[in-house]
Amino acid sequence: MEENCIFCKIVNGDFGTDFILENDYAVVFNDINPKTPVHILVVPKTHVASLNELDDKNLLGELMMTVKQAAKKVGLSSYKTLINTGKEAGQEVFHLHIHIMGDKN
Ligand code: 5GP
Ligand code: ZN
Repeated sequence: MEENCIFCKIVNGDFGTDFILENDYAVVFNDINPKTPVHILVVPKTHVASLNELDDKNLLGELMMTVKQAAKKVGLSSYKTLINTGKEAGQEVFHLHIHIMGDKN
């Protein structure tokens, strides 16, 4: 848990955020400012600042499996995934997360 990290606090339950899905590796919740009709975030439970800091292949695999499970759970069969890495690329929260974006179908 990193101090002053908003996603660490969400993972920790500090804000009472509803989790769409939770497993040993990640939590999934709605983006607060959705850019598509369905916009959810897959967030590892451990603090990793960005993809550049990730060296755990097993965690990466678990996160992608969680993407698939979460998409299914919210009823998406078609969706985009996005990882912003670095400020210039639009990363705002420096705790790794995978966006899942789609239209309800
Ligand atoms: P980034 O630009 O870092 O890839 O994406 C950060 C995302 O986190 C943005 O889409 C933003 O709307 C979302 N976000 C930022 N703060 C919060 C928050 O406190 N709660 C939730 N649910 N989403 C957040
Ligand atoms: Zn964090």
